[in-house]
Amino acid sequence: MDQSDVGTDLEKILLSEEDIGKKLDEMAAKIDEDYAGRDLLLVGVLKGAVMVMADLSRRLHHPITMDWMAVSSYGSGTKSSGVVRILKDLDSDLSGRNVLIVEDIIDSGLTLSWLVSNLKSRGPASVEIAAMLRKPDAAQTDVTVKYLGHDIPNEFVVGYGLDYAENYRNLPFVATLAPHVYGG
Ligand code: 5GP
Ligand code: MG
Ligand code: MG
Repeated sequence: MDQSDVGTDLEKILLSEEDIGKKLDEMAAKIDEDYAGRDLLLVGVLKGAVMVMADLSRRLHHPITMDWMAVSSYGSGTKSSGVVRILKDLDSDLSGRNVLIVEDIIDSGLTLSWLVSNLKSRGPASVEIAAMLRKPDAAQTDVTVKYLGHDIPNEFVVGYGLDYAENYRNLPFVATLAPHVYGG
């Protein structure tokens, strides 16, 4: 599966590998600056944030620790259910830590809004968000993204960690899915 699938399963590429890399450089530079002299724990949200976490964390000069959480809100479909369940909790104690949540995409914002308040209740020094992608609906929630890659249109996208029924996560770019793939 690669760029040659555009026109069959994939509709169009929204962000190339190069676009993503440039944004990650900018995000990493800001994070390095903002957290200078402070402890930093990156919390990745499985599975979608795996690529962002790997590529963003390797661009940081700042020493970090890394932890992972798995939550479910979508199942295998394309709409947020609004119900968030913890499938895998953090291993780390958050008390006094500066937590930076690393996310793939903010769509409704329901998942992150829930996650931020959940993590804040554990006594951290701070909780901020870094997300590669954001859709317009996120503007209607109370979620503030401190480090953002790109705003994208309100379309279902795959690639760079994002799946449709667990497929397409390993695409190095972000693309929209052809409607016939999801029965549209
Ligand atoms: P939210 O709660 O903000 O609506 O989104 C929760 C999660 O749903 C995201 O972290 C992401 O894993 C998934 N999601 C949201 N929009 C998309 C999309 O366009 N494509 C894919 N593949 N997953 C999405
Ligand atoms: Mg996610
Ligand atoms: Mg998914």
